[in-house]
Amino acid sequence: MKTKLYWSQFNHLFNSKKYGHLLYNAETNAFANLSTNMFDLLNAISKEEKVVDELDDMTIEKFLQKKILVKDKNDYLHRRRLRYYFQAFDTSNLGLAVAPTTACNFICPYCYEENKVNKYMTEEVEQQLLSFIDGHKRTNILNLTWYGGEPLIGFKSIQRILEGLKKINHIKLGLHNMPTNGYLLTKEVSLFFKENPMNSIQVTIDGAKEHHDKLRMLPGNFPTFDKIVENLDSFIEYNPKTPVFIRMNLLNDNIDSFGKTHKELSSHWKGKDVLIYPAFVKDFSDSCKSNCNLVSREDKIDFFRELKEKYNIEVKFKPFNSSTGLCGATHVNYFVVGPEGEMYKCWNDLGVSEKVIGYVDGREKNYDVLTRYLAGPTIMDDNECKDCSIMPICTGGCLWVRHKNLYENKDLDYSCCARKNNLDKTIELQYEETLRTAKAKY
Ligand code: SF4
Ligand code: SF4
Repeated sequence: MKTKLYWSQFNHLFNSKKYGHLLYNAETNAFANLSTNMFDLLNAISKEEKVVDELDDMTIEKFLQKKILVKDKNDYLHRRRLRYYFQAFDTSNLGLAVAPTTACNFICPYCYEENKVNKYMTEEVEQQLLSFIDGHKRTNILNLTWYGGEPLIGFKSIQRILEGLKKINHIKLGLHNMPTNGYLLTKEVSLFFKENPMNSIQVTIDGAKEHHDKLRMLPGNFPTFDKIVENLDSFIEYNPKTPVFIRMNLLNDNIDSFGKTHKELSSHWKGKDVLIYPAFVKDFSDSCKSNCNLVSREDKIDFFRELKEKYNIEVKFKPFNSSTGLCGATHVNYFVVGPEGEMYKCWNDLGVSEKVIGYVDGREKNYDVLTRYLAGPTIMDDNECKDCSIMPICTGGCLWVRHKNLYENKDLDYSCCARKNNLDKTIELQYEETLRTAKAKY
């Protein structure tokens, strides 16, 4: 009996003004540039006006390989769920984001850590944390992120914990990194990290100096741009092998300055391991909703296109289609540790007492919060996502936001992929990139 074949829900068939009849499949990232006859036939098949059998055997074989035709419409979802749980319950590594303090020296208007109390880790808690790490006897790699507040306010704790880690023989540091605002990245700190190297450091800059200094200020509205650049110069000098990621927060007010600032800073750090990338500010804070001018999903794709066309900045439009949407919060061996030794699953929960899942000294566990993150609803349980034609290239956005909406009656944007609202345009850009890469191989 002949197996019934189906038109994949992840196909996108459309008429591009620039490239003619295009077929794209989001599960395999495959493209086909079609003749008018083939386009019309596939269009009819996609609408179930014609059957797959009208295609010749060779085309069917090729389409099966590229998952344009599928034997079972649910196969993708099963594969993704399996990959997701394999990764989520892999205990070979321990992942920690340690906040030695919740204090911050900046007063950014969009900060979601507003209204949180400043706390600092004591030496007693540092020891408890080290015992907690030591207790993971079957794990030999620790992936460590310093978090906050501003982690460098707790620099003394960072020093003591890293010294203590050296005495735990069965654990080696794997990934070691830190997001910081860069203001306290002094020569002393840079020299310390020369001896205790990080795999990367992430520093946030809010666009051009004039925009940045209005947003990322010290109390009293003191500017910070020049000091951050100066600190980074010395960090790079002492840590030339540590990649520096400059995250540039973008709102509508500063989006136009990205290209120019990118050019200026890239030339300032020419030849150094520095990557400057855009990050769109999200509406995580209530005060931001009224004060911040967030970039719309529709404008994001145009922004990236302009970067490429106007500033010749390399932009990767081709998506990763092996993403499961897994993040630290959904990983069984990942914890965010606050200054009192309290543990959370997601760093957005830091400082929220109801979200504490336990303590590094072993006290009480909040299984409700824990199980929601590990086994609660994900993109794979969302009906809109299950019907979505680009699910394989979408992470599903942030789970913390999904859970806020589901369990706390919020209405936050969970970053439904910007591609969805601009599909034809995005696919054209991906197609262009595919053509460029193919040419480069000759
Ligand atoms: S988050 Fe949005 S774009 Fe992503 S799969 Fe769900 S519906 Fe589609
Ligand atoms: S739930 Fe969201 S904020 Fe939390 S770790 Fe995951 S992606 Fe990050």
